[in-house]
Amino acid sequence: MSNNKSIHEFDFNLICEYFSSIERQGPGSPEATIQALGFIENLTDNSRIADIGCGTGGQTMVLAQHTRGSITGVDLFPAFIDIFNANVASHDLQDRLKGVVGSMDDLNFSLEELDLIWSEGAIYNIGYDRGLKEWKKFLKDGGYIAVTEVSWLTDERPEEVEKYWLDAYAEIDTIPNKVNQLQKAGYMPVAHFVLPDSCWTDNFYIPQVEAQKIFLSKYPGNETVTDLVHNQKHEALMYSKYKDYYGYVFYIGKKQRA
Ligand code: SAH
Repeated sequence: MSNNKSIHEFDFNLICEYFSSIERQGPGSPEATIQALGFIENLTDNSRIADIGCGTGGQTMVLAQHTRGSITGVDLFPAFIDIFNANVASHDLQDRLKGVVGSMDDLNFSLEELDLIWSEGAIYNIGYDRGLKEWKKFLKDGGYIAVTEVSWLTDERPEEVEKYWLDAYAEIDTIPNKVNQLQKAGYMPVAHFVLPDSCWTDNFYIPQVEAQKIFLSKYPGNETVTDLVHNQKHEALMYSKYKDYYGYVFYIGKKQRA
């Protein structure tokens, strides 16, 4: 038991170290964050915002610089939250932004406390539909949710990519079906847009090429590291081959009165 646990923790630490070395832990960009924010109305100095699955806070710093009010970033991994809070200090945002360790399936907010729930590249951890439904109780009436979620961009697709995604995340679906789920979960579907290719390449896969080189030379022969790098390279390859068929989509909804 204890042996397994220590192996598990070692793997976990390495995975955290790898993703901590890049600014974003998922596809996205400051421009996309700002574009999504453009659909959110009524934010004031008193607004309460949560960024769920915030990682090291790449998008949260942008969110904070373009909103007023106070923001809480929540992530499961303490190592990410440590970096997040160091980023908060270096951006001089500590009076209205803080990162806390927590899980998205057990959030510590009060009922109807929040004006805005943000979550980029993370809601899949609980599942899009479940996240939309469970988090709604923390939003005020008329509050907003803005999430990015992997989605099919076409009705049909090659078998290889279909199988790849159904194994990785069976909840992947087409944009109309995701918008429909948003509406069924009790939100007005305010807007949605597909993240441009640069969100995947320039901000996610290209920075990883350098990170992989450093990581492999720091831990020569380490199986976890080799596997992780192999896995990330495969993911990038799948993206370059099949990017016409899937992408990340920003979905923005406004909580409807029950
Ligand atoms: N929003 C960031 C990170 C996306 S990666 C960005 O766009 O760059 C997904 C994040 O979800 C990771 O930081 C991971 O630690 C976090 N995560 C995974 N499971 C979680 C859970 N149950 N609760 C909270 N965060 C979780």
